Amino acid sequence: MAKVRHEALATSSATQIASLVIDYLQDSNNFSFEDAIDVHNKNIVNRMFKPDKKTLLHYFIEWFCDPYEDIDNLHKNCSIEEAEFPLIRMLLEFEQIPDIKEFKFHKTVQDRQINGDYDSFISELKSFVTLNHDLIKDHLVHSTFQILFLDRHFLHDFNKKVSEVIKENKEYLASAYPKNLTNKQTIRRNSNWPKWLVDAIFYRDKGHCVICRTNLTNQYSVDGTANIDHIIPLKLYGSNDSSNYQLLCNSCNASKGARTTETNNMNVPFWNYDYKEIKEPEEGSDEVTE
Ligand SMILES: [Zn+2]
Repeated sequence: MAKVRHEALATSSATQIASLVIDYLQDSNNFSFEDAIDVHNKNIVNRMFKPDKKTLLHYFIEWFCDPYEDIDNLHKNCSIEEAEFPLIRMLLEFEQIPDIKEFKFHKTVQDRQINGDYDSFISELKSFVTLNHDLIKDHLVHSTFQILFLDRHFLHDFNKKVSEVIKENKEYLASAYPKNLTNKQTIRRNSNWPKWLVDAIFYRDKGHCVICRTNLTNQYSVDGTANIDHIIPLKLYGSNDSSNYQLLCNSCNASKGARTTETNNMNVPFWNYDYKEIKEPEEGSDEVTE
């Protein structure tokens, strides 16, 4: 594994953003996916050709990250009692972002309560968020990606939408980027996997074939022959974006090929929770289950 720097992620804020992203992806009446994954934006199209650390999913998540508006909504639509905890939780997470400027809320926020004048607290908070806007937004996008990248069903649905955009615009893409598309107007295979990406997929999929659950950890450490598979195959208008991959064994990779978009959400939990075997002690009894 390549060395990955440890970071304090904004997991509470990110969980809320992730849930918005999931809802909006399913509800196409609400949102035009093609506005976010805009084929006339060269940076976005480049992600379809070659994996990058900033993925198409990052661009999509960006649409749902607006800390200034979140503060404004809490201020306008909620009582102080309702807004206080979400605002403080936000601050606790923003404070930990490296290079954040002018964090001066320790005096106004003590014991998880806002002290002093609420309106001037809000206006200070807004100018702090404006000053650090890009930094906060990038951190929220990065943190939200960590959650959504774990969910292969979501990645499948997201990349399915990306493939619809590619299919819809295949003529344009083929004429604007002739080197990157095949003569069937699908995106050309990219055979160079960056190590950070292979490591991330291997780590996320916990070294097991996503489909048949074969343990691939030995193969990976010895000669790295485990297969990185496009969840939505290129032949079905999938892309080379970093969000469109999963780990497969040789045999599942050969049989899945370019025909299906099979994936699943099988994973290794922290522990198994066999709810039928877990017994609560009887009401009033002193017995404690070990
Ligand atoms: Zn397999």
